[in-house]
Amino acid sequence: MSGTKIVAASDAAIAAAAALLRAGKLVAFPTETVYGLGADAGSDDAVAALYGAKGRPAHNPLIVHVAALAEAEALAEFDDAARVLARTFWPGSLTLVLRKRAGARIAAAVTAGLDTVALRIPDHPVALALLRAAGRPLAAPSANPSGRVSPTRAEHVSSGLADLVLDGGPCRVGIESTVVTLDGGARLLRPGGIDRAEIERVLGRALATAGDAARPHSPGQLASHYAPRARVRLHATSVSAHEGALTFGAQVLRGAKMEINLSERGDLGEAAANLYAALRALDDAGVETIAAVTIPEEGLGAAINDRLRRASAR
Ligand code: AMP
Ligand code: MG
Repeated sequence: MSGTKIVAASDAAIAAAAALLRAGKLVAFPTETVYGLGADAGSDDAVAALYGAKGRPAHNPLIVHVAALAEAEALAEFDDAARVLARTFWPGSLTLVLRKRAGARIAAAVTAGLDTVALRIPDHPVALALLRAAGRPLAAPSANPSGRVSPTRAEHVSSGLADLVLDGGPCRVGIESTVVTLDGGARLLRPGGIDRAEIERVLGRALATAGDAARPHSPGQLASHYAPRARVRLHATSVSAHEGALTFGAQVLRGAKMEINLSERGDLGEAAANLYAALRALDDAGVETIAAVTIPEEGLGAAINDRLRRASAR
């Protein structure tokens, strides 16, 4: 499937994409976080094709995307805490891992055989229109080969992954969703587009943190992920002429082959939105190493640092 078709996300294109999904095909579409590679979550064959296309390990479960809370409640058991979080943050960049309902029509491979399921309503008009037109939940991991940099623009979706790519422009948040489990106590499994502190405020208590990468609470939360071709060097304070520099705010690194400032005004939201495109651009410039300055570990900075750490792990 080289030279995958990229089409502007018109009503007609969304209808055509929905028909492809209902026929078991894979469609890449924009969400507010990153571009997802969607498959019919109820189809064993479509989900198998999705794992195959990404080269995703079978033990790494997928997030199921739905258009409405009622659809999510048909798939998983919501307690009061889950309902409060869903009502507050959906549509939005929060994924809830909840106990799967007996008889939920989801392919077993979606949950990697677990009795829990990860759910979210994306906050993007194209994603919502596609979900409604498809009329079924869609499993949708990021539209990139497993382990590589996620796409935040249609043209960053790797050629050959999808049967069709819907172009909805650049992603507003630019970093994957925050993943929280409420199964066996509220825990943060992955920092992401919604700040942990906001979730804790709504929940009225602190989120526990998931364990170390050696024994992940969340399967698939592997040490190495989100990786560009170049090696990534963290907490850089200087840079050499064959390196790329990834900088932030006033922390510039002079003398690099190429420097990209994630946000000159020091805005972490802007930095998150620019992160993946910046890693791609530095890769495309052919640098051996990407030297990244220290990003503040506050707000979206926690998610940026999580991705940079994983990008640096080899
Ligand atoms: P991605 O699709 O790459 O954004 O990754 C989704 C992440 O959600 C995975 O890496 C898993 O760690 C997590 N996840 C999905 N389903 C579950 C589940 N049932 N239990 C725990 N974590 C999950
Ligand atoms: Mg991914």
